[in-house]
Amino acid sequence: MDFGRSPDEEAFADEVRRFLAEHPPERFPLDGVDAGYGSGAHSHAFMRALGERGWLAMCWPEAFGGQARPMFLKLVLLEELALAGAPFGPLAGSWQTADAIIAYGTERLRRELLPAIARGEATFWQGYSEPDAGSDLLALTTEAKRDGEHWIIRGHKIWSSHAGVSTHGLVFTRTSREARRSRGFSMFVVPSTTPGMDIRPIRSLTGDIYHYEVFLDEVRVPADLMLGPEGEGFVALLNGLDSDRFWGRFYKAPALLRVLRRLVDYANTTVVAGAPLARDPVVRRRLAAMAAEIAALRLLFYRAACLLRDGAPITYETAVAKVYADETGQKLARLGLELLGPWGVLRRGSRAARLDGDIAHAYLTSLGHTIAGGTAEVLRTTVAVRGLGLPAEPKAR
Ligand SMILES: Cc1cc2nc3c(=O)[nH]c(=O)nc-3n(C[C@H](O)[C@H](O)[C@H](O)COP(=O)(O)OP(=O)(O)OC[C@H]3O[C@@H](n4cnc5c(N)ncnc54)[C@H](O)[C@@H]3O)c2cc1C
Repeated sequence: MDFGRSPDEEAFADEVRRFLAEHPPERFPLDGVDAGYGSGAHSHAFMRALGERGWLAMCWPEAFGGQARPMFLKLVLLEELALAGAPFGPLAGSWQTADAIIAYGTERLRRELLPAIARGEATFWQGYSEPDAGSDLLALTTEAKRDGEHWIIRGHKIWSSHAGVSTHGLVFTRTSREARRSRGFSMFVVPSTTPGMDIRPIRSLTGDIYHYEVFLDEVRVPADLMLGPEGEGFVALLNGLDSDRFWGRFYKAPALLRVLRRLVDYANTTVVAGAPLARDPVVRRRLAAMAAEIAALRLLFYRAACLLRDGAPITYETAVAKVYADETGQKLARLGLELLGPWGVLRRGSRAARLDGDIAHAYLTSLGHTIAGGTAEVLRTTVAVRGLGLPAEPKAR
């Protein structure tokens, strides 16, 4: 198996690096913070710049305004952007939503939203979790009721990342109480400015605003903004979650590599007790061990990418890769804090902070990563059942 880039992929990587040199990431205004997964901050301006290059729609079929380019170019783009620390936060969500709209969106969603996504103007938040429905999403209570050519949504979503700075929400609702437990759910693409939608910020551990709580009070949504067949939302959601996990974490290996390089640089340039930290055998061994783990992480994702490209199931592979990605991120952040010593916990803006306080930020954000998008505990059950053939857990009575 050849893990190297093909000549086309290498040429595309050069093109992306030239783009980054001409458009330095730090010059783009930000409208949301970096969630710490490696996707950089949320920036509409950066998304529009990617849109101008045609990179948001490059893998869509030509009939939908795309260029039908191979999926692996998206991997190249994500890797180069993550290595550069570019603010491409909304990118994976836009790609995922566009793929769903192309696969089963209504005529209206295709006509109105695909061009806006391609230009980098439409960005999305996911309204799945509720105060009493997280791992067990089927417990959700947000409800949509049909009213002629509209649906009226009432309910309450929580932890919706970037809801306050994205143009549309993917709101997961119950549309039938009669259907059996896993049926009767539907997804809507709701403009964030729709009357009745109250989006309130939640301050995170870092002090930043990243999560939002969304109250939906009689939110009136045209029926053709439903994404996928009525009542089949949970099946579509489950199918989408594997690729969500893939695209939501693929860039973690290059992003962690970027952090590791900064730590290596720090070890090379910081003198402790008369010698550079990089001469300390324990420091050297731990940095080298992290390099090996990040390399393994990248390969896990490339294996999942090959399966995804070939249309094979990736439930087990993405469960393994996501847990490993998030736990490796936590490990690297802890190592960074130890290397920086007492200065490591100082935050950006503090005079004595080292590496701009980025390691403290990475540490605090990394804690939520083993919860977001499926907890490590739940995904370990997926690995046990789907990968190892262990019996499923008995249902709670
Ligand atoms: C950084 C971050 C970003 C997020 N972004 C979004 C977003 O954009 N949109 C959105 O809708 N939601 C988002 N979430 C919410 C996230 O999806 C939920 O927090 C997650 O699904 C867990 O649900 P919960 O918080 O209700 O915890 P619970 O499901 O109540 O779990 C509590 C604990 O019990 C464990 N547990 C639960 N069920 C089982 C089981 N069957 N077996 C073993 N252990 C179990 C869990 O692992 C966890 O430790 C985000 C969360 C975080 C931390």
